[in-house]
Amino acid sequence: MHWYAAELEPLLSVVAATIDKDGTLVEANAGFLKLINDPAPTAIGMCVSKLFIAPDFVSLADAEGGDGAEIYQGLLTIGDAEGRTRSLHARVWRRAGQVRVLAEYDVEELERLSRAMFDLNHEYANAQLDLAQTNLRLRQREAEIIALSLTDPLTGAGNRRALEKALALETTRAARTGTSLCAVMADLDHFKRINDTFGHDVGDNVLAAFADLLRRKTRGTDVVARFGGEEFVVLMPHTDLERATDSAERIREALESVRFEPVPGAVTVSMGVAELAADEPGEALLRRADKALYEAKQSGRNRVVTSATVDACGTALESDALTRLRHEDNL
Ligand code: GH3
Ligand code: MG
Ligand code: MG
Repeated sequence: MHWYAAELEPLLSVVAATIDKDGTLVEANAGFLKLINDPAPTAIGMCVSKLFIAPDFVSLADAEGGDGAEIYQGLLTIGDAEGRTRSLHARVWRRAGQVRVLAEYDVEELERLSRAMFDLNHEYANAQLDLAQTNLRLRQREAEIIALSLTDPLTGAGNRRALEKALALETTRAARTGTSLCAVMADLDHFKRINDTFGHDVGDNVLAAFADLLRRKTRGTDVVARFGGEEFVVLMPHTDLERATDSAERIREALESVRFEPVPGAVTVSMGVAELAADEPGEALLRRADKALYEAKQSGRNRVVTSATVDACGTALESDALTRLRHEDNL
């Protein structure tokens, strides 16, 4: 039988204990054992005087008052084995030379703590949300910067870096999957004359319009890039030489039919087309497309020339020879 009601025995929100004047814990309910962080029955019989922080145990034990007197009423701060302290509203009596403690947690303080906790959680959640949004914006900005660093500002086409990246990617993919890849190199004819006659701005407009035409006349998977000046490259994955040559021809015809104010006649383009050969590096593909372009210029401009490729022995074949070879194959 305890001096406190049996109903208090299992409660954690109320603390009830009897302590000998030498500090030995005689009896305690679940609330007290939890408070000192020491589960029964180990704490019973132990000295708990050091856990009384304010008032300390000696002051309590020596307080004036006879048997049965209330020797303290007010805040009681008790620590646990790990050094954490808690303050409770307590009443302390002396009885039969022992100290009896009955205390309860400060409900308002607990509510304040829980409100502060809630606010902190709320702030934390908001901060997390802000962070996620900032991260998203950062990633979008990063993507924009990468896109800008790969784009030619005048024409919106890919720049030289974009072409290099795409070339590396597409040549690797073509080699791995055994699919065809073509490169078309296009150079506007007598472009210097347009600049010289109508001004640089007109030249700029023609360049932007030509890039636009290239995008419209090619597939979404094709890569349109400005190689430099008035020279463009279109990479055509999954496209063989014949279809790439047809595409180039359609581009040539389309440009020829457009008029650019105030340029009176047609603006024309010469093009070289090459298909990636087995084990051929991307740069070699571009060199062959460029060589074919040179041939197109040499043979009168405003035309499409198909490049030399290599035969099974690795020997270079001229473009016309290749076309003939294919034709004969089909016969
Ligand atoms: P060809 O038919 O042999 O290609 O003759 P072309 O006049 O087109 O070639 P050339 O290489 O002699 O001249 C290219 C001109 O392109 C010279 C240069 O000023 C002009 N150009 C290069 N970049 C730009 C640009 O960004 N804007 C404008 N307006 N002109 C440019
Ligand atoms: Mg030119
Ligand atoms: Mg040029």
